Amino acid sequence: MISASNIHKRFNNLEVLKGISLAVNKGEVIAIIGPSGSGKSTFLRCLNRLETIDEGSIEIEGEILADTDAAGKVHYAPEPAARRICRKMGMVFQQFNLFPHLTVLENLIEAPLTVKGVKREDIVPQAEELLLKVGLAEKRDVYPSRLSGGQKQRVAIARALAMNPDIMLFDEPTSALDPELTGEVLKAMRRLAEEHMTMIVVTHEMAFAREVANRVIFMDAGEIVEQGTPADVFGSPVHARTKAFLNRV
Ligand code: ATP
Ligand code: MG
Repeated sequence: MISASNIHKRFNNLEVLKGISLAVNKGEVIAIIGPSGSGKSTFLRCLNRLETIDEGSIEIEGEILADTDAAGKVHYAPEPAARRICRKMGMVFQQFNLFPHLTVLENLIEAPLTVKGVKREDIVPQAEELLLKVGLAEKRDVYPSRLSGGQKQRVAIARALAMNPDIMLFDEPTSALDPELTGEVLKAMRRLAEEHMTMIVVTHEMAFAREVANRVIFMDAGEIVEQGTPADVFGSPVHARTKAFLNRV
């Protein structure tokens, strides 16, 4: 369902991704862990073309988003196909980036209305259902400034889901939150996982990775150093760099 192969990414002279390959099956929950600066966010951003790759290929749901020819030149799918492929992925960031001038409900329906051309009467009931699912039905008509960080992040999750993505990408969705607010966001994510949403989650929450992920990926210095089940990676890490990282967190 997602197949990324030999992804390379440079920022000027800095090679941030050094040939990352990752295949994610439908319904799989992948946790990506690793030290600061190891390239976790950059990798997620490459998957949905927030960053362009310098080499490699990306296939989403059987469609090629990017590929590299024999001469080493990267080709992206032309528009509008590329945008359509990227829309199969919803993304939730550390910073919630809600529209401050729109109510919670309006935040959810904005993109389906404007980008997808869905009818208002069709999307409103779906948005209300999503708010119920993340436990925020009563905040429907409130502006983001009136919400706690945990509530804002749950709105951001519901907003991404309102686009009906096949895959959800999370980049440290709880790391900007006070500790007492992380639980409610993790609960919403756990619920998504139980519904078999395909998810890639960059996280510092080792307990969440251990309990919810099917597979844990340890990245360091732009490479996947080690991967396996949570029991493997947390219980009996093989690589010295993995052991050192897990001892620190
Ligand atoms: P963290 O855990 O701190 O979020 P990360 O693993 O997500 O770290 P990235 O944000 O992917 O790491 O960054 C990897 C490297 O790429 C870092 O050295 C970072 O400074 C660099 N980098 C990221 N984005 C850019 C950019 N737009 N321009 C230049 N360098 C960048
Ligand atoms: Mg990051």
